[in-house]
Amino acid sequence: MEEKQVVLVTGGSRGIGKSIALKYAENGYNVIINYVSDKTDVKSLENEFKEKGVDILLVKADVSKSEEVEELVKKSIEKFGRIDVLVNNAGITRDTLLMRMKEEDFDKVIEINLKGTFLVTKAVTPYMMKKRNGRIINLSSVVGVTGNAGQSNYSASKAGIIGFTKSIAKELASRNIRANAVAPGFIDTDMTSVLSDDVKTNINAQIPMKRMGTADEIANVVYFLGSEESSYITGQVINIDGGMVM
Ligand code: NAP
Repeated sequence: MEEKQVVLVTGGSRGIGKSIALKYAENGYNVIINYVSDKTDVKSLENEFKEKGVDILLVKADVSKSEEVEELVKKSIEKFGRIDVLVNNAGITRDTLLMRMKEEDFDKVIEINLKGTFLVTKAVTPYMMKKRNGRIINLSSVVGVTGNAGQSNYSASKAGIIGFTKSIAKELASRNIRANAVAPGFIDTDMTSVLSDDVKTNINAQIPMKRMGTADEIANVVYFLGSEESSYITGQVINIDGGMVM
């Protein structure tokens, strides 16, 4: 029997990351889910994935801390011996206007969203290089392209992810490792649930498709970018946003 391929999804315990992990599991991948909060219900996540007939490893690690990232990748390789697809999904917001933004609000968002993407990619890439095969998909955002009032820290982190993705795509293409980014628009998850109904109605009115996207709609594209169906696509940023940016 052929060995199953393996996907590592950072921040895979909820929201978009969980949908991505489930999509890969449904397509026969063994799954490594990284998370950070003590509130995570590890047992029920394990059961949910095992029901799909795949093996799962859950690893608590803060992606912004290099020692924890090293440990995450070490445990992953010990368990599965390979990582075929890396999805850098872990991310946070600390929204406020520039005049009110504290240095720590800026640093925290850059550290988790941008530096975390760097640290995990750096730790995983040697294993992909050895196999001369790998796919990396990074979660950017439409606001990394357009900017957004109240999100200078977050937009900077997501714009940084685009530059990072294009650079590693150029570095790694000759080793048969592809790197792409997705830029979701306004997606219904815990991250956006903090917005008031008024704000949501206003945002929806500005989206050509007049609705929020779902985590599954992001997962479908991330799965495509990790599959052979996208074998000649690298260094790209795909907007998934109901037409917000065009
Ligand atoms: P979410 O529901 O808030 O989930 C965030 C995930 O990231 C959780 O699994 C969380 O783990 C994990 N995480 C947070 N800090 C971490 C850290 N330091 N180390 C490891 N994991 C960490 O977010 P989401 O809406 O699904 O967003 C997922 C990604 O899509 C993010 O990169 C976000 O910026 C991007 N995105 C989202 C939207 C949107 O509208 N929702 C739009 C564009 C882009 P715990 O469960 O352990 O806390």
